[in-house]
Amino acid sequence: LRSELGNFERLSLVGQMAAGITHEIRNPMAVVRGFLQLMREKSPESLNHYYRIVMEELDRANGIINDFLSLAQNRIVEKEQCHLHDIIRELTPLLWADANLRGQTIELKLEDHVTMLHLNPKEMKQLLLNLSRNAMEAMGEKGVLTISTHEEGDFVEMEVKDTGPGIPQKQLEKLFQPFYTTKTKGTGLGLALCQSIVERHHGTIAVDSVEGMGTQFKVRLRRTVPTYRDHSEFPVMNSIQK
Ligand code: ADP
Ligand code: MG
Repeated sequence: LRSELGNFERLSLVGQMAAGITHEIRNPMAVVRGFLQLMREKSPESLNHYYRIVMEELDRANGIINDFLSLAQNRIVEKEQCHLHDIIRELTPLLWADANLRGQTIELKLEDHVTMLHLNPKEMKQLLLNLSRNAMEAMGEKGVLTISTHEEGDFVEMEVKDTGPGIPQKQLEKLFQPFYTTKTKGTGLGLALCQSIVERHHGTIAVDSVEGMGTQFKVRLRRTVPTYRDHSEFPVMNSIQK
């Protein structure tokens, strides 16, 4: 079968299988979750601790299934005109809470010029969340996570920078491979998903890392609507007048 299928057909077959399998797994998980909740209401408080762990692990498994599904399906997503900064700002309370627990800080450096982009807000949040989570997980206490944006010609660049230990040169090439992880509880799906999200937005993602200094992920997205600026911003043009 393998040799008879082109790359595209094979990919969509994997996507369909993934959708089917994940659906079949999600159903029993939802049932287990529901019954656990019922059991919890009827059992002594001393068991609460165990219930919490079981629930957390169920939710974690569900998260893995979701990530795997978005990766395997590589579907076409609906995009709309959004302001990138709105997306970043909507996500920051969540990131702040996480950073606070770890004794880390977050800095936003958002450039005023950055305008509307054609994107899928849910996916863009997922992208930013994955990159930020990785950054926070890599850094120790007092670490600083910086999220910045700026214009670069027809592109908008979003950078997620950390003050963590950095990534050894040899590991850099494997980073975006699905299931590549150096963490005991990692899935290795986070960056693979980031890459497929960026591809669905016709952008690029690159990583820059210096061992002992930190890591920086750069996402480049094309601007769809050019901004027409006031001529006064171009002193050269004004001085050409005779
Ligand atoms: P996971 O987080 O589940 O391990 P990811 O795909 O998100 O999977 O990341 C893959 C690997 O890349 C991580 O296990 C880690 O080794 C490395 N990595 C990603 N981001 C960073 C970072 N900011 N600093 C150091 N290492 C990183
Ligand atoms: Mg991750």
